[in-house]
Amino acid sequence: MPFSCFPSNLSFVLTEHEAYVFHWTTDNVPSFRSPDGSREQNSHAAKQTTLLTAQFPKSNPQVPNCRPYFSLLVITRRLVRTNIEPRVTMSQIANEGKHEKILLAFDFDHTIINDNSDTYVTKLAPNGKIPPEIKALYSDQGWTLFMSEIFRYLHSNKTTPKQILECMTEISFSPGMVDLLTTLDQTKAEAIVISDANYIFIDHILTFHGLKDRINKIFTNPAKFNNEGRLELEMYHVQDSCSLSTVNLCKGQILESYIEERAKENVIFTHIAFVGDGENDFCPSLRLSPKDFVFPREGYSLVKHIEKMKAEQGLHIKANIHTWKSGLDILKILSDKVPLLVQPSL
Ligand SMILES: [Mg+2]
Repeated sequence: MPFSCFPSNLSFVLTEHEAYVFHWTTDNVPSFRSPDGSREQNSHAAKQTTLLTAQFPKSNPQVPNCRPYFSLLVITRRLVRTNIEPRVTMSQIANEGKHEKILLAFDFDHTIINDNSDTYVTKLAPNGKIPPEIKALYSDQGWTLFMSEIFRYLHSNKTTPKQILECMTEISFSPGMVDLLTTLDQTKAEAIVISDANYIFIDHILTFHGLKDRINKIFTNPAKFNNEGRLELEMYHVQDSCSLSTVNLCKGQILESYIEERAKENVIFTHIAFVGDGENDFCPSLRLSPKDFVFPREGYSLVKHIEKMKAEQGLHIKANIHTWKSGLDILKILSDKVPLLVQPSL
């Protein structure tokens, strides 16, 4: 069957009882990669269970009308002498057009970075102190209003956008987080941020440290510096359907919407991992399935909150729970589950 769209690669697992044969009719000869070395051949019998990746070069520009044709035949070796039908063909996969990935959804404060950006910025206030009347505005439902008043206070005390942005770049990353973000193979994993901080902080920190392109999407409260240099903040959304979340940000809703949106774009997440530290990370964690992962930061409030919500409200997380101290702990667990999750060069 001809394909108008050629995949750049295809991964499949071969067990020790199987062999594969590839057929193609163009010079788009795929090359195969396996954990035990490179291969350049169109058939292979596995000695052990092996994950193989076929990488297809781009179409030959000299043959613009080339209509590639190929199929993948996986054969059970014990039946190799019989006329069995192919178990899976490229046409089946291509017709479905699905791209399977793993999704890592991250909280930001005390998860990607090792501090709370909203409280860190208050060091720019006179004597590093926020007046009691502004502190009194804080409530679980009113974090955005509270932060808006803090930014108004900083502005009235001549704090500049440059000072605020420079202050953000001082914050260090949580242990192993840069390693985790930079070693994920982006053809197999997507990373998103869902945070109750604000877009200016998150965007600036990630961009300054060269990590912005490692994040597929940032979901957070919109923010911008106005003409006078005051940081203006908006709620991400206004919701009353989830009592586990604040009115301005239900991380569970955002996560589910993103999964649906990507499914419409033919990206299916085989596993979802939520990485967080705080109580507002409970809602998205609760929505995950037994094939997914919740990574609460060791020693932070989400760990106890998970136990509390189970004991007091019978809210039981179905996903696999693993605490983490370092992003490398997360990488190890996910790599065991998803072979070749890290980039091949590492
Ligand atoms: Mg947090």
